[in-house]
Amino acid sequence: MQSLWYPYAQMRGHEIQNQVVAAQGVRLKLRDGQSLIDAISSWWCVIHGYNHPILNEALRAQANDFAHVMLGGLTHKPAQRLADKLVEITPAGLNHVFFADSGSVGMEVAMKMAVQYWKNLGVTGKYRFATLLRGYHGDTTGVMSIGDPEEGMHHLFKGYLPEQFFVRPPEGCGDARGAMRTTVEESLEHLRTTLQNHHSEIAAFVCEPLLQGAGGFNFYPPEFLTAARILCDEFQVLMIIDEVATGFGRTGTLFAMEQSGVSPDIMVLAKGLTAGYLGLSATIANDRVFDAFLGDGYDKAFMHGPTFMGNALACSVALKGIEIFEQEHYIQKIKRINQILLEELVGFMAPGVREARVLGACGVIEVTDALVLKGLQAFAAERGVWLRPFNNVVYTMPAYVMDEADLRHVCATMKAWFRK
Ligand SMILES: *Cc1c(COP(=O)(O)O)cnc(C)c1O
Repeated sequence: MQSLWYPYAQMRGHEIQNQVVAAQGVRLKLRDGQSLIDAISSWWCVIHGYNHPILNEALRAQANDFAHVMLGGLTHKPAQRLADKLVEITPAGLNHVFFADSGSVGMEVAMKMAVQYWKNLGVTGKYRFATLLRGYHGDTTGVMSIGDPEEGMHHLFKGYLPEQFFVRPPEGCGDARGAMRTTVEESLEHLRTTLQNHHSEIAAFVCEPLLQGAGGFNFYPPEFLTAARILCDEFQVLMIIDEVATGFGRTGTLFAMEQSGVSPDIMVLAKGLTAGYLGLSATIANDRVFDAFLGDGYDKAFMHGPTFMGNALACSVALKGIEIFEQEHYIQKIKRINQILLEELVGFMAPGVREARVLGACGVIEVTDALVLKGLQAFAAERGVWLRPFNNVVYTMPAYVMDEADLRHVCATMKAWFRK
């Protein structure tokens, strides 16, 4: 009997050999004694590595006080301190933090906030979203509707999902689907016409900044975001930025938005926020959004409150994680990782490879056909590396504590597959 139902898996004949019994630093230790370098930091969240003594201690200390209390009618220091800290480190103007428990829910909160923002201002009819093709924002209903309509599950859930407006992203790199590349100018033109024609229905423009993750690892330049901010203002549409994957250093700066020089109205963080210890997201709004919810009664209030909102263990570990990030100069570590990835991957060519590209601490080899990657996972595991290719991409998003030898071994393993 299969009591455990795995993610993104066909369960018929499903078998997983890799049982993790311990994890330390960047290494997973398996039941059979084998050790694997985790090249993808457990879906990109374990940025400090596994079993971090300081994070462990932060959890233990908080558990001794209390693990959790509801945030409705009660408050506590870890939640307040984390909110203060996030306001301090995120782009200017983002001053109000709403906690939830995962990236998907954090994004749902952002979308709900945007819709209610316009209602509260007395503007009706703005309840749809403009977004970029090739995006990924999570697996719940609202965010599925803004995920890439071809890669995602739109056909399966047609009729169930709200229909949104999709804009071609700038594609600075080969497009797996053989479509033509789109320049920043072309993409902005598409955004402009979309907003021009439909702004009376659109609550917000929403996208992942610089690095579109699970939608196929498309990288694009910050100029797009700078100009998109202006278009959003021109057409009276909020800007929501999903930094669930890019937040905490992945693109080379603490937040990807910093490179654009502009701030969104709402920004969402999760994944690296708790470094893989616990589920937590932060939806951070500027004054303009927050102020629209102020009033005398409940009619304008934001009616949302997940049970585990502001969980004290999660907030404590997040605070400590941010402290480590700052004190141990992670931005420097990320620069070093970036340098090694550039050396190892950029320019790599082999039969079946479309393009290798690097942004910050993310290195990608994209192939012409997903079949080219079939068997790569087992091949890498035999060489002591945990990789999980998907569609036509094999990538590494290492923990920032990975040392040079391990990172070079990860890259060598990715490349060796194409030479075998
Ligand atoms: C992973 C991811 C999400 C969803 O986060 P979960 O915690 O898995 O719900 C949302 N947006 C982006 C950009 C992500 O990479």
